[in-house]
Amino acid sequence: MPEWGPFDVLDNLSPEDLRQRLLSLQAIIDRAPVPIAIAHDPDCRFIFANRALASLIELSPDANISLTPPAGERPPYRIQRNGRDIPPHELPMQYAIAHRTAVSNEIEIVRADGSVVYVQNDVEPLYDTHGEIYGCVSVCVDLTDRKLAEMGLRDADRRKDEFLATLSHELRNPLAPIRSALEIIRLARGDEELVEKARATMERQLSHLVRITDDLLDVARITQNKVHLRRERIDLRVVVQSAIEATRPMIDANGHTLSVQAPEHPIWVDVDFTRIAQAVSNLLSNAAKYTEPGGYIGVTAASDATSATVIVSDTGIGIPAALLPRIFDMFTQLQAHRDRTYGGLGVGLTLSRRLVQLHGGAITASSEGPGRGSQFALRLPLESAEQMAEARPGGGATDARNPPCRVLIAEDSPDAAEMLSLMLGIKGHDVRVAADGEQAVAIGRAFEPQVAFVDIGMPRMDGFEVARQLRELLGDRVLLVALTGWGQDEDRRRSREAGFDHHLTKPPEPDVLEQLIAERMREPG
Ligand code: ADP
Repeated sequence: MPEWGPFDVLDNLSPEDLRQRLLSLQAIIDRAPVPIAIAHDPDCRFIFANRALASLIELSPDANISLTPPAGERPPYRIQRNGRDIPPHELPMQYAIAHRTAVSNEIEIVRADGSVVYVQNDVEPLYDTHGEIYGCVSVCVDLTDRKLAEMGLRDADRRKDEFLATLSHELRNPLAPIRSALEIIRLARGDEELVEKARATMERQLSHLVRITDDLLDVARITQNKVHLRRERIDLRVVVQSAIEATRPMIDANGHTLSVQAPEHPIWVDVDFTRIAQAVSNLLSNAAKYTEPGGYIGVTAASDATSATVIVSDTGIGIPAALLPRIFDMFTQLQAHRDRTYGGLGVGLTLSRRLVQLHGGAITASSEGPGRGSQFALRLPLESAEQMAEARPGGGATDARNPPCRVLIAEDSPDAAEMLSLMLGIKGHDVRVAADGEQAVAIGRAFEPQVAFVDIGMPRMDGFEVARQLRELLGDRVLLVALTGWGQDEDRRRSREAGFDHHLTKPPEPDVLEQLIAERMREPG
């Protein structure tokens, strides 16, 4: 076999050797998975594509792919740079020959069907023995996957930026009245009516802030597939009722008429009560939000042989058909609805859909267009009748008159600690506050709390270590409750390992704290 080598060896090759070399070169070019084009005339009237290039452009392998052919028809594809057609004299191969230079840049190939392929393109002129250019070769690298991924990332990034802007806006909304209410309380010494009014405002706005934070945590959990369902067999009508109760104030405030239709018999489903109620109330609050005051909202619960359905319909502003598929995307709020999205982050529908999907169900949206109302259908697999469950155990009612309890609060934020200790103090409990981990252990040793609410991130000793030491000191006589901003499953696992009995995210519900204290006081010891 002749060796590859410098050109002068060509002089010593027999015609048969030359033929073999040409054939092997041709085979390499044709078989290479790299798109390659070759022109053997300086005007690039004929350009031949190897198989990889022909299939990339979706033309037959024997086609002349020149965009400057001798006469007649040009092949049905285009070459663009940044979305614009490249004029014939600036086409990479033509340009390389005319300017006697190598060319290297990114271009787009637009196929006959309009689809776009992004390529890195390198062209090298070919010179004869006299230094004259007789053609050129062009080699491409397909960048389409990378480009599309980049565009996807940029789009996600843009939506995240928009989301952050919405988030700060949504956080500011409740903060402003809370600040004013505080000022009112300061000025209204003695005027109980005024103080009560301010307090009620703060409470309302606070629950709003808590809802936003909960949504954010849910988004994080859901995107990391960390939502665990607590399924139970339950009558779907009860779930719908609970969702209606949660959204009733909003529906009433907007003067909407609500009509509910449900069968006489139970609709048994195997679901996480809280999560499905959350999904239905998201649909209901959207219906209330995106419907002019005085509108009509319908809720229908029904079942057939295999599935249970909840349909929420409204007579509201509707959704343009083209945008329907997008409303379930994370952080999406339709531009035209922006001024009405108060109280929302554009995550409600994403959450609802994913929660329902986790149950093996689906949510679909339909609308006849702007101004013509919307309809959302939530479908769940049906639980068979034989497996009917007992009634769901009701949430324990809170008894505000618990016997006094020794409570330790370990919290490095003075405001949070003071508010919590005031609240529990008012309810008659004996409360001590520690501002860091070491202090918490010291107080714990002397005071022997029956319940300890412990922040995790604290100076000198973190909450996990505090829990370990308190458990060692007091054994089961103390109920250890982690009180933290971190509510992910991993955080919950860590606090369990450190010996905590419960893990609450901030801000805790006063009722829940009281319930935990009541639980502890009921136990002997
Ligand atoms: P948001 O917090 O903005 O309400 P969602 O994820 O719940 O977020 O909804 C996404 C978008 O879908 C909304 O911003 C709104 O544009 C549109 N949308 C949702 N429900 C309705 C409805 N019932 N009628 C009209 N548009 C709706």
